[in-house]
Amino acid sequence: MSKAPKKKTVKPTELQNELLIYLNGEFVPKSEAKVSVFDHGLLYGDGVFEGIRSYNCLVFKLKEHLERLFESAHTIMLTIPYNQEEMTEIILETLRVNKLRDAYIRVVVTRGEGDLGLDPRKCKKATVFVIADSIVLYPEKLYRNGMGIITVPTVRNLPEAVNPQVKSLNYLNNIMAKIEANNSGYMEALMLNPQGYVAECTGDNIFMVKERILSTPPAHVGALKGITRQAIIDLARRNDVPVQERMLTRHDLFNADEMFLTGTAAEVIPVVSLDGRQIGNAKPGRVTAKLRSAFADLTKRDGARYSI
Ligand code: PMP
Repeated sequence: MSKAPKKKTVKPTELQNELLIYLNGEFVPKSEAKVSVFDHGLLYGDGVFEGIRSYNCLVFKLKEHLERLFESAHTIMLTIPYNQEEMTEIILETLRVNKLRDAYIRVVVTRGEGDLGLDPRKCKKATVFVIADSIVLYPEKLYRNGMGIITVPTVRNLPEAVNPQVKSLNYLNNIMAKIEANNSGYMEALMLNPQGYVAECTGDNIFMVKERILSTPPAHVGALKGITRQAIIDLARRNDVPVQERMLTRHDLFNADEMFLTGTAAEVIPVVSLDGRQIGNAKPGRVTAKLRSAFADLTKRDGARYSI
C-alpha cells in the first residue's frame, strides 16, 4: 500500500502523552497537527467528514461510514487521495498508534490549500486527517430519564441546495439550530424541512413509537441517512417491531407514545418532551429500551476488528 501512513514521525516522549493525529500521510502529535489558513475546508467549509465509533477494538459499521464519506465526496466532486481499503487502514492505524479500544473517530477530507477565491481548481491536493479521541455528547442522566427537545425556526437545508445527504463541513445550518435550542435552554433542536415536515435534529435522526409501530422520516424530507438510524431500523425488524419510513408532523410527534434520537455520538437517547408537550408518560418507553439494549449488543459484535 503505497499511501499507507508513516508511523515513526514522533519522538517516544511525545508518543506517551500526546494524541497522535493522522495528517496527510503521517502521524503527528496533536500540538503539531496544523492545516493551512488557506485550506478551503476552513475558508469555505469545502470538504466532507465522518464521525465513527469504536467499541472494544471493533469499529462499528466502518464500511458504511466510508461508503457515505466517498459518496459525499463524489457529489461535491472532491477526490479523496486514497481508496476505501487505504482509508480503512489509516483509521485502524490511528486507533492502534493511540492504543485506543473505545474511541470517537473523526475523518475529515477537505478540498485542500488554495487561494482566497472560491475556485476549487486552485486546490491541488486534498487535506486528509483522522482524529481518534473520546466524545461525551449528553450526560448519562439523560439516557436514563430522557431529554426534552424544542423545534427551532431554522429549517433543514433544501435538498436542491446542499443536499443533506452530503455530510459536508458546512454545518452552519445545524449550528444555528443548535444555538436556537441552547438559547431556549435545550441541548438539542428538532429541525423541520421547508414544508414543515419533521426532518431530524442537529446531529441526530429522530424516531417515534405509536401503538408499537416505529416511524422515522424518510431521508428525502431532508434527513441524513444515519448509520445508527439504519442499524435501528434493521434491529427493529429483527425484533418484530414494525417500522415505517413516513412523513411526520409535529402533531404526530406530540402524540407519540415514545420518542428517541439516534446518532454515532449520541447512540440511542430517549426524548420525553417536545416543545413543552409531554411524550407518552414522560418516561423512556419500552420499545426504546429494547432497541437501546439491542443496539448496545450489536456494538459488541459488529465492526472492523483491530488489536492494540
Ligand atoms: N443527522 C445529522 C445532521 C448528523 O450530523 C448525524 C451524524 N452526527 C446524524 C444525523 C446521525 O448519523 P449517524 O448515525 O450516521 O451518526
